[in-house]
Amino acid sequence: MEFKKIGVIGAGAMGKGVCQSLAMHGMDALFIDIDAGALHNAKDEIGEALGMHSLLQTESVDVEACMSRIHCATSLNVLEDADFIVENITEKESVKSQLYPALDEICRADVCFAANTSVISITKMASWTKRPQNVLGMHFMNPVPLKPVVEIIKGHCTADTTLHAAQRFLKQMNKKGVIVKDLPGFVANRVLMLTVNEAIWLVHDCVAQADEVDRIFRSCFGHAMGPLETGDLIGLDTILLSLESLYQNYKDPKFRPCPLLCKMVDAGLLGRKTGRGFHEYFAKNAIPTAESACA
Ligand code: NAD
Repeated sequence: MEFKKIGVIGAGAMGKGVCQSLAMHGMDALFIDIDAGALHNAKDEIGEALGMHSLLQTESVDVEACMSRIHCATSLNVLEDADFIVENITEKESVKSQLYPALDEICRADVCFAANTSVISITKMASWTKRPQNVLGMHFMNPVPLKPVVEIIKGHCTADTTLHAAQRFLKQMNKKGVIVKDLPGFVANRVLMLTVNEAIWLVHDCVAQADEVDRIFRSCFGHAMGPLETGDLIGLDTILLSLESLYQNYKDPKFRPCPLLCKMVDAGLLGRKTGRGFHEYFAKNAIPTAESACA
Protein backbone atom coordinates (compact mmCIF):
# COMPACT_ATOMS: atom_id res chain seq x y z
CA MET A 1 0.00 0.00 0.00
CA GLU A 2 1.24 3.47 -0.86
CA PHE A 3 1.14 6.08 1.90
CA LYS A 4 -0.70 9.15 0.65
CA LYS A 5 -1.96 11.22 3.59
CA ILE A 6 0.37 11.58 6.53
CA GLY A 7 -0.53 13.15 9.86
CA VAL A 8 2.36 15.32 11.10
CA ILE A 9 1.74 16.54 14.64
CA GLY A 10 3.84 19.37 16.07
CA ALA A 11 4.99 22.36 14.01
CA GLY A 12 8.35 22.91 15.70
CA ALA A 13 11.81 22.32 14.25
CA MET A 14 11.14 18.64 13.51
CA GLY A 15 7.51 18.76 12.37
CA LYS A 16 8.47 21.46 9.86
CA GLY A 17 11.26 19.34 8.42
CA VAL A 18 9.12 16.19 8.20
CA CYS A 19 6.33 18.13 6.53
CA GLN A 20 8.70 19.66 3.97
CA SER A 21 10.20 16.26 3.12
CA LEU A 22 6.78 14.64 2.69
CA ALA A 23 5.58 17.43 0.40
CA MET A 24 8.78 17.18 -1.66
CA HIS A 25 8.13 13.46 -2.15
CA GLY A 26 4.53 13.83 -3.31
CA MET A 27 2.71 13.01 -0.06
CA ASP A 28 -0.05 15.10 1.52
CA ALA A 29 0.75 16.30 5.04
CA LEU A 30 -2.05 16.90 7.54
CA PHE A 31 -0.02 19.35 9.62
CA ILE A 32 -1.27 19.86 13.18
CA ASP A 33 -0.29 22.00 16.15
CA ILE A 34 -2.27 23.31 19.13
CA ASP A 35 -0.72 26.72 18.45
CA ALA A 36 -2.18 28.30 15.27
CA GLY A 37 0.63 30.90 15.23
CA ALA A 38 3.29 28.17 15.28
CA LEU A 39 1.58 26.46 12.34
CA HIS A 40 1.39 29.68 10.36
CA ASN A 41 5.08 30.48 10.96
CA ALA A 42 6.08 26.90 10.19
CA LYS A 43 4.28 26.95 6.84
CA ASP A 44 5.99 30.26 5.92
CA GLU A 45 9.37 28.83 6.89
CA ILE A 46 8.75 25.68 4.84
CA GLY A 47 7.99 27.91 1.82
CA GLU A 48 11.29 29.74 2.32
CA ALA A 49 13.21 26.49 2.88
CA LEU A 50 11.78 24.96 -0.31
CA GLY A 51 12.89 28.02 -2.26
CA MET A 52 16.40 27.77 -0.77
CA HIS A 53 16.49 24.01 -1.42
CA SER A 54 15.71 24.68 -5.07
CA LEU A 55 18.54 27.20 -5.28
CA LEU A 56 21.19 25.25 -3.39
CA GLN A 57 20.55 21.63 -4.44
CA THR A 58 20.83 20.19 -7.92
CA GLU A 59 17.20 18.93 -7.93
CA SER A 60 14.50 21.43 -8.90
CA VAL A 61 11.50 21.74 -6.59
CA ASP A 62 8.00 22.88 -7.57
CA VAL A 63 7.44 25.08 -4.52
CA GLU A 64 3.78 25.80 -5.29
CA ALA A 65 2.90 22.12 -5.78
CA CYS A 66 4.70 21.21 -2.54
CA MET A 67 2.93 23.94 -0.57
CA SER A 68 -0.46 22.79 -1.90
CA ARG A 69 0.16 19.38 -0.28
CA ILE A 70 0.46 20.88 3.23
CA HIS A 71 -2.89 21.16 5.03
CA CYS A 72 -2.77 22.95 8.41
CA ALA A 73 -5.19 22.30 11.28
CA THR A 74 -5.38 22.80 15.03
CA SER A 75 -7.74 19.84 15.58
CA LEU A 76 -6.82 16.16 15.47
CA ASN A 77 -10.14 15.30 13.78
CA VAL A 78 -8.65 15.69 10.28
CA LEU A 79 -6.54 12.59 11.01
CA GLU A 80 -9.46 10.19 10.57
CA ASP A 81 -8.31 9.37 7.03
CA ALA A 82 -4.54 9.56 7.62
CA ASP A 83 -2.46 6.56 6.43
CA PHE A 84 0.48 7.06 8.82
CA ILE A 85 1.25 9.37 11.76
CA VAL A 86 4.52 11.08 12.64
CA GLU A 87 4.33 12.68 16.10
CA ASN A 88 6.77 15.54 16.78
CA ILE A 89 5.36 17.39 19.79
CA THR A 90 7.21 18.73 22.83
CA GLU A 91 9.63 16.26 24.48
CA LYS A 92 7.61 15.87 27.71
CA GLU A 93 5.97 12.64 28.81
CA SER A 94 3.16 14.59 30.47
CA VAL A 95 2.34 16.26 27.12
CA LYS A 96 2.82 13.23 24.84
CA SER A 97 0.77 10.98 27.17
CA GLN A 98 -2.29 13.22 26.59
CA LEU A 99 -1.97 13.03 22.81
CA TYR A 100 -1.69 9.26 22.14
CA PRO A 101 -5.06 8.16 23.61
CA ALA A 102 -6.77 10.93 21.58
CA LEU A 103 -4.98 9.79 18.40
CA ASP A 104 -6.00 6.22 19.14
CA GLU A 105 -9.68 7.23 19.15
CA ILE A 106 -9.50 9.16 15.87
CA CYS A 107 -7.15 7.20 13.60
CA ARG A 108 -8.04 4.00 11.68
CA ALA A 109 -7.11 0.86 13.60
CA ASP A 110 -4.49 -0.19 11.02
CA VAL A 111 -2.58 3.10 11.15
CA CYS A 112 0.96 3.14 12.61
CA PHE A 113 2.11 5.83 15.02
CA ALA A 114 5.76 6.88 14.63
CA ALA A 115 7.06 8.81 17.63
CA ASN A 116 9.83 11.25 16.74
CA THR A 117 11.12 11.39 20.29
CA SER A 118 14.68 12.07 21.40
CA VAL A 119 14.79 9.78 24.42
CA ILE A 120 11.33 8.70 25.70
CA SER A 121 10.65 4.96 25.87
CA ILE A 122 8.67 3.74 22.85
CA THR A 123 7.33 0.84 24.90
CA LYS A 124 5.84 3.30 27.39
CA MET A 125 4.36 5.48 24.63
CA ALA A 126 2.82 2.40 23.00
CA SER A 127 1.13 1.55 26.32
CA TRP A 128 -0.85 4.83 26.06
CA THR A 129 -2.72 3.31 23.09
CA LYS A 130 -4.81 0.22 22.40
CA ARG A 131 -2.53 -0.59 19.43
CA PRO A 132 0.95 -1.06 20.97
CA GLN A 133 1.91 -3.36 18.08
CA ASN A 134 1.46 -0.40 15.67
CA VAL A 135 3.67 2.04 17.60
CA LEU A 136 7.36 2.55 16.85
CA GLY A 137 10.03 5.20 17.25
CA MET A 138 11.19 7.14 14.21
CA HIS A 139 14.04 9.40 15.26
CA PHE A 140 14.56 11.80 12.37
CA MET A 141 17.74 13.85 12.31
CA ASN A 142 17.72 17.62 12.04
CA PRO A 143 17.42 19.20 9.44
CA VAL A 144 15.12 16.43 8.20
CA PRO A 145 15.18 17.20 4.43
CA LEU A 146 18.99 16.89 4.37
CA LYS A 147 19.46 13.75 6.49
CA PRO A 148 19.13 10.44 4.63
CA VAL A 149 19.09 8.07 7.63
CA VAL A 150 16.52 7.69 10.42
CA GLU A 151 16.80 5.66 13.62
CA ILE A 152 13.83 3.24 13.79
CA ILE A 153 13.10 2.06 17.33
CA LYS A 154 11.38 -1.25 18.00
CA GLY A 155 9.35 -1.06 21.19
CA HIS A 156 8.72 -4.19 23.26
CA CYS A 157 5.36 -4.77 21.49
CA THR A 158 6.17 -3.34 18.04
CA ALA A 159 5.16 -5.86 15.35
CA ASP A 160 7.48 -6.77 12.47
CA THR A 161 4.72 -5.67 10.08
CA THR A 162 4.95 -2.18 11.65
CA LEU A 163 8.71 -2.12 11.06
CA HIS A 164 8.16 -3.13 7.43
CA ALA A 165 5.53 -0.40 7.04
CA ALA A 166 7.99 2.11 8.51
CA GLN A 167 10.69 1.08 6.04
CA ARG A 168 8.26 1.44 3.13
CA PHE A 169 7.18 4.84 4.42
CA LEU A 170 10.80 6.02 4.68
CA LYS A 171 11.52 4.72 1.19
CA GLN A 172 8.74 6.99 -0.11
CA MET A 173 10.63 9.87 1.60
CA ASN A 174 13.87 8.68 -0.04
CA LYS A 175 15.34 7.83 3.37
CA LYS A 176 16.61 4.67 4.99
CA GLY A 177 16.01 3.38 8.51
CA VAL A 178 18.42 1.68 10.91
CA ILE A 179 16.51 -0.51 13.39
CA VAL A 180 17.60 -0.32 17.03
CA LYS A 181 16.16 -1.55 20.32
CA ASP A 182 14.22 0.50 22.84
CA LEU A 183 16.26 1.90 25.71
CA PRO A 184 16.00 5.63 26.53
CA GLY A 185 18.12 7.74 24.17
CA PHE A 186 18.36 4.77 21.75
CA VAL A 187 21.74 5.05 19.95
CA ALA A 188 22.19 8.62 18.72
CA ASN A 189 20.95 10.60 21.70
CA ARG A 190 22.41 8.39 24.42
CA VAL A 191 25.78 9.51 23.08
CA LEU A 192 24.93 12.94 21.66
CA MET A 193 23.17 14.35 24.75
CA LEU A 194 26.17 13.46 26.92
CA THR A 195 28.52 15.06 24.38
CA VAL A 196 26.55 18.31 24.22
CA ASN A 197 26.21 18.40 28.04
CA GLU A 198 29.95 17.82 28.53
CA ALA A 199 30.74 20.59 26.02
CA ILE A 200 28.47 22.89 28.08
CA TRP A 201 30.42 21.90 31.24
CA LEU A 202 33.60 23.06 29.45
CA VAL A 203 32.11 26.55 28.97
CA HIS A 204 30.67 26.47 32.52
CA ASP A 205 34.10 25.61 33.95
CA CYS A 206 35.66 28.37 31.77
CA VAL A 207 38.04 25.88 30.12
CA ALA A 208 37.24 27.43 26.75
CA GLN A 209 34.65 29.66 25.11
CA ALA A 210 31.86 28.21 22.99
CA ASP A 211 33.53 29.22 19.69
CA GLU A 212 36.77 27.52 20.70
CA VAL A 213 35.07 24.29 21.82
CA ASP A 214 33.22 24.06 18.50
CA ARG A 215 36.30 25.00 16.45
CA ILE A 216 38.26 22.11 17.96
CA PHE A 217 35.60 19.59 16.91
CA ARG A 218 35.19 21.06 13.43
CA SER A 219 38.91 21.49 12.65
CA CYS A 220 40.40 18.46 14.42
CA PHE A 221 37.74 15.81 13.84
CA GLY A 222 36.16 17.02 10.60
CA HIS A 223 32.72 17.38 12.24
CA ALA A 224 30.35 19.58 10.22
CA MET A 225 29.34 21.29 13.48
CA GLY A 226 30.74 21.50 16.99
CA PRO A 227 28.73 20.11 19.93
CA LEU A 228 27.47 23.53 21.06
CA GLU A 229 26.36 24.44 17.53
CA THR A 230 24.56 21.09 17.48
CA GLY A 231 22.89 21.92 20.81
CA ASP A 232 21.76 25.28 19.41
CA LEU A 233 20.36 23.54 16.32
CA ILE A 234 18.43 20.93 18.32
CA GLY A 235 17.16 23.52 20.83
CA LEU A 236 18.63 23.84 24.34
CA ASP A 237 15.17 23.26 25.87
CA THR A 238 14.95 19.91 24.06
CA ILE A 239 18.51 19.06 25.19
CA LEU A 240 17.57 19.80 28.83
CA LEU A 241 14.32 17.80 28.67
CA SER A 242 16.21 14.90 27.08
CA LEU A 243 18.96 14.91 29.71
CA GLU A 244 16.37 15.05 32.51
CA SER A 245 14.55 12.10 31.00
CA LEU A 246 17.81 10.11 30.59
CA TYR A 247 18.77 10.96 34.18
CA GLN A 248 15.39 9.79 35.52
CA ASN A 249 15.39 6.61 33.44
CA TYR A 250 18.93 5.37 34.09
CA LYS A 251 19.33 6.97 37.56
CA ASP A 252 22.89 7.58 36.43
CA PRO A 253 24.56 10.88 37.50
CA LYS A 254 26.46 11.04 34.21
CA PHE A 255 23.26 12.48 32.66
CA ARG A 256 23.00 15.35 35.22
CA PRO A 257 22.31 18.55 33.22
CA CYS A 258 25.00 21.22 33.55
CA PRO A 259 23.72 24.23 35.58
CA LEU A 260 24.70 26.56 32.72
CA LEU A 261 22.29 24.68 30.44
CA CYS A 262 19.47 25.13 33.01
CA LYS A 263 20.31 28.82 33.35
CA MET A 264 20.28 29.41 29.59
CA VAL A 265 16.91 27.67 29.20
CA ASP A 266 15.53 29.81 32.07
CA ALA A 267 16.84 32.90 30.25
CA GLY A 268 15.12 31.88 26.99
CA LEU A 269 18.45 31.40 25.19
CA LEU A 270 17.32 28.26 23.37
CA GLY A 271 19.58 28.36 20.31
CA ARG A 272 18.53 28.92 16.71
CA LYS A 273 14.81 28.94 17.50
CA THR A 274 15.15 32.08 19.67
CA GLY A 275 18.09 33.63 17.80
CA ARG A 276 20.62 33.04 20.60
CA GLY A 277 22.12 30.12 22.44
CA PHE A 278 25.83 29.40 22.61
CA HIS A 279 26.07 31.36 19.37
CA GLU A 280 24.22 34.33 17.96
CA TYR A 281 21.93 33.89 14.95
CA PHE A 282 20.21 37.30 14.70
CA ALA A 283 22.31 40.31 15.73
CA LYS A 284 19.12 42.27 16.53
CA ASN A 285 18.31 40.24 19.70
CA ALA A 286 20.09 42.19 22.40
CA ILE A 287 19.95 39.54 25.13
CA PRO A 288 22.92 38.09 27.04
CA THR A 289 25.37 35.76 25.32
CA ALA A 290 26.34 32.29 26.57
CA GLU A 291 29.60 33.66 27.93
CA SER A 292 27.94 36.40 29.99
CA ALA A 293 25.32 33.92 31.21
CA CYS A 294 28.27 31.80 32.42
CA ALA A 295 29.83 34.59 34.43
P1 NAD B 1 9.65 22.16 19.40
O1 NAD B 1 9.64 22.50 20.83
O2 NAD B 1 10.42 23.00 18.42
O3 NAD B 1 8.13 22.06 18.85
C1 NAD B 1 7.13 21.30 19.46
C2 NAD B 1 5.76 21.73 18.90
O4 NAD B 1 4.76 20.84 19.43
C3 NAD B 1 5.36 23.16 19.30
O5 NAD B 1 5.03 23.91 18.14
C4 NAD B 1 4.12 22.95 20.18
O6 NAD B 1 3.14 23.98 20.05
C5 NAD B 1 3.59 21.61 19.65
N1 NAD B 1 2.71 20.89 20.58
C6 NAD B 1 2.88 20.70 21.91
N2 NAD B 1 1.87 19.95 22.40
C7 NAD B 1 1.06 19.65 21.35
C8 NAD B 1 -0.13 18.89 21.21
N3 NAD B 1 -0.70 18.27 22.25
N4 NAD B 1 -0.70 18.77 19.99
C9 NAD B 1 -0.14 19.40 18.91
N5 NAD B 1 0.99 20.14 18.98
C10 NAD B 1 1.59 20.25 20.19
O7 NAD B 1 10.16 20.66 19.34
P2 NAD B 1 11.08 19.94 18.23
O8 NAD B 1 12.49 20.33 18.41
O9 NAD B 1 10.42 20.06 16.89
O10 NAD B 1 10.97 18.42 18.75
C11 NAD B 1 9.79 17.67 18.57
C12 NAD B 1 10.06 16.23 18.98
O11 NAD B 1 11.10 15.70 18.14
C13 NAD B 1 10.54 16.10 20.42
O12 NAD B 1 10.06 14.92 20.97
C14 NAD B 1 12.06 16.06 20.25
O13 NAD B 1 12.70 15.42 21.31
C15 NAD B 1 12.19 15.27 18.95
N6 NAD B 1 13.42 15.50 18.19
C16 NAD B 1 13.98 16.75 18.13
C17 NAD B 1 15.13 16.94 17.38
C18 NAD B 1 15.74 18.31 17.23
O14 NAD B 1 16.84 18.42 16.66
N7 NAD B 1 15.08 19.37 17.69
C19 NAD B 1 15.71 15.87 16.68
C20 NAD B 1 15.09 14.62 16.74
C21 NAD B 1 13.94 14.45 17.50
